[in-house]
Amino acid sequence: MALCLGQVFSKDKTFRPKKRFEPGTQRFELYKKAQASLKSGLDLRKVVQLPEGESLNDWIAVHVVDFFNRINLIYGTMSEYCTERTCPIMSGGLKYEYRWRDGDDYKKPTKLPALKYMNLLMDWIESLINDEDIFPTRVGVPFPKNFQQVCKKILSRLFRVFVHVYIHHFDSICSMGAEAHINTCYKHYYFFISEFNLIDNSELEPLVSPLTESNKEGCCSKQTRDLS
Ligand SMILES: [Zn+2]
Repeated sequence: MALCLGQVFSKDKTFRPKKRFEPGTQRFELYKKAQASLKSGLDLRKVVQLPEGESLNDWIAVHVVDFFNRINLIYGTMSEYCTERTCPIMSGGLKYEYRWRDGDDYKKPTKLPALKYMNLLMDWIESLINDEDIFPTRVGVPFPKNFQQVCKKILSRLFRVFVHVYIHHFDSICSMGAEAHINTCYKHYYFFISEFNLIDNSELEPLVSPLTESNKEGCCSKQTRDLS
């Protein structure tokens, strides 16, 4: 589903190596099916719907990996504009601040520069989607019971990349001519999470109307979100 990435993005700038589906596997076939319907120009609302006879968990797994690859590439392309100087804290405008906690190196929610936060975020997602116990690739191995919960977490965290890139790097997006590509990717992502109710509405607030909201509320009502 590289459709939304176009020629604007260089593969060399991928923040992390692309996670691939193994040819010949059922998930690879499902990925190809999803990609074909995306390229067919169908309404994105329809494209995200579960094809008849397919398993919901497989459909979610394919999309989580695909969104990780695409959002990873979008941020990789933007990352030269996202430095410790420009973005000393991972935020989404004046109102939203995201703190990192992983229960490991960062036991308490910690303010970090956006670039550092994104690095940790992509590492965290990568380790989950490469974990055979969570994203099993072998035939006959079932998904774990908490699979959808894990995917909800991943998709919520990926949403924050859109928040940061849209609110803080919109000028760079436009100067690169990447706006349409990112918008398509975002729309596809948004319709997918809406179709299967995969994110709490509160998480989506920063992109509801960021400019109006931040002007209205100012910096006094700053909110923080933890990675927990
Ligand atoms: Zn930034």
